[in-house]
This record gives sequence, C-alpha cells and structure tokens, in this order.
Amino acid sequence: MPIQNRIAEFQKDMQKWRHHFHEFPELAYKEVNTAKKVVELLKKFNVDKIETGIGGTGVVATLRNGAGRSVGLRADMDALPIKEENEKNYCSKNKGVMHACGHDGHTSMLLGAIKYLSETRKFKGEVVCIFQPAEEGFAGAKAMIEDGLFKKYPIDEIYGMHNMPNLKEGILAVQEGPRLAAADNFEIEIVGKGAHGAMPSNSIDPIVCGSALVQNLQHIVSRNSNPKETLVITIASFHSGNANNVIPKNATLNGTIRYYDDDIGKMVKKRFHEVVNNTCKAYGAKPIIKFNKGYPATVNHKKQSEFAYNIAKKVNGKNSTNIQSPMMGSEDFSYFLREVPGAFAWIGNGQSASLHNPKYDFNDNILSIGASFLATLAEDYLK
Ligand SMILES: [Zn+2]
Ligand SMILES: [Zn+2]
Repeated sequence: MPIQNRIAEFQKDMQKWRHHFHEFPELAYKEVNTAKKVVELLKKFNVDKIETGIGGTGVVATLRNGAGRSVGLRADMDALPIKEENEKNYCSKNKGVMHACGHDGHTSMLLGAIKYLSETRKFKGEVVCIFQPAEEGFAGAKAMIEDGLFKKYPIDEIYGMHNMPNLKEGILAVQEGPRLAAADNFEIEIVGKGAHGAMPSNSIDPIVCGSALVQNLQHIVSRNSNPKETLVITIASFHSGNANNVIPKNATLNGTIRYYDDDIGKMVKKRFHEVVNNTCKAYGAKPIIKFNKGYPATVNHKKQSEFAYNIAKKVNGKNSTNIQSPMMGSEDFSYFLREVPGAFAWIGNGQSASLHNPKYDFNDNILSIGASFLATLAEDYLK
C-alpha cells in the first residue's frame, strides 16, 4: 500500500494550509494566528477535544474511539527570524520572519493526518495531536511538558517527523539511537589588562590568552573524550580590540558544544570550566563564563523505531530507510523522548536549499506521504 488514498485526495487542501502558514509565519511563542488557524481547521475536522495555551501558544487536539492505548503525534509551528528570498505567490508577508525550517509543512501534514483519522476512525483508543510552539531554540516542547502536557494527556508513545533537504523526495528515514545531538552553548569574557601595543609587558593580553584557550578547548575533544564517542566543540566567534597599536582589555569568545551521550556532556562541562579557568590563570587573566545547557540529544527508542520503520515501509515501500546517519543539529523533540518512548523520523525534502536558508522552501509533494505516515502510525498502533 502506498500513501493512504483518502489522504491523497486532500493533498490540495494540505498545500493550501501550508501556503497560508508560510505566508504568515510567526516566531517562537508568538504563534498566535498560526494556533488560531490550526484550531479553526481542527473544529472543521470534528476532533473530540481541543485545548489551547499549553506551554504558551501550544495546541493539543484529541481523537477518541472507544477504550485503548494512547499515542501522541507532534508537529512544530514556529518560524525563524530570516528575511525570505524566494519568489513564490505565498512568500512571507511578515517582514523578517520566515518558515525556513519547514514547520509550515510539519503542521499541515499533522492536520492532514488528523482530518483522515477523524473521518475514518479506524482505531481503538486515543490520538493526541500536539502542535508545539518555539522549537527553534526556545524549547517549546519543554514548556508544554512543564505546563502539564503528559499529566493531562498520559500517552503511551510519541512520534514526530522533520523534513530533510537533499534527502531524496519522500524518503522516510527512521531508526533507533541518537538522531540529533545535544547542543550546549557558551560565552567566555576574558578580562585582562590593556596597554600600548609596543609595551606588551604592561598588559595582560586577552588575545594571547584567548588564542591559547581556542587551542586548549580542542584538547577536550582529542584527549578527554573517547574517540568512539561523538563530540564537537566550536568557537564560533572571537572579538577583541579595534586598533593596531593597542592591546585591549577584554576578549569575548563564544561557541557551541555538540554530543549524543549525557555522560560526555557532563565530562565536557566539567573540563570546559577547568580548561578555561586554568588557562586564564596561567596568563594572569580572569574569565567570566556563561555556560548554557541547551537541548539534550534526540535519542530514538528501539522498539518504537522498529515499529515506525515498518510503518514507513508499509506507506512508502522501498523509499524508506533505517540506515541514515545521525546529525549534529539539535531538536527539542528530545524532551518528549525523555518522558515517553517514541521515535523521530526524517522525510526527504528532495533537492532544496538547506534548512534555515533564506531560499529554503518545504516541498509540497511530500505532504501526503508524511500525513499518511503519521496517520498509519496512529492507526496501526491503536489497532
Ligand atoms: Zn530549524
Ligand atoms: Zn525545524
């Protein structure tokens, strides 16, 4: 069986919804009109219950059909602070805001799945549809959980999906284990002592100290981390000084740390502080460190990944894979997977600009494949 026939019939509707969301993108926790539109459609689909305002602008809709288990399906609704460079008739009308990560498509696919599930009701139990805010760096998933999402809706399993540019159009990729990395970030201000550029002995040079720091932090990757584990430490900016004959007083460095394993994360955090403090001490400078724990790694559960892969094969035949490499990007679906077993899948966006690029656009051709995948996941889980 390829995609659900009934879902293929409203491909055009999904496209229309997707273009509407694309035209009116909203940033994290400001998805007011997006949520309104989602609710307007959910009412038309005759879902059993709609709750708004969970975790800020989150929306939860439930479909119930007798007694049985409960499964969660999730889509994200937020856009990015990017000025769109596409030339389509549905380009962003909200200046400087753009759906450059395809969340317009994710929301539309979930709506398509709900429309179908509500019409057909070929399941026993409950489908909990989660439209979350603020995936892009502001942890909307965590906000919904803290707002009691799983206490109000105690689901047994959860599934989510993200499009992936340059993965062949419509490919469904799902497998167990780490899929996306944990992402911590930091800022280090090195406080030294300024002096004339010709009189370095009067200074505590934050640039020399910072240069050593850039080198030393890499040794955490090469010498403290097991080579079989994945770890990235990137210094992404280094700002100091503005004249060719003045040694400045301060230097500011910031960057990101990516890994899959919680223990690696703990080790890095500890070593990071030791390396920064001791390097600065060696140069006589003082560090002011801001270390922010970001999203944890997105780690798929074994049983649920196998189940989702079988559904992918059922919906999409050979266009499904369970040997897709993990990525070092991050995703707040990770918070859901820490509470409830589940899996996060990729759907190929085909040849396209990369995510977060001003020329990116979600591929409409994959809407009915994605919606069929989500709907069949729920249907088969609640057989
Ligand atoms: Zn994104
Ligand atoms: Zn995204």
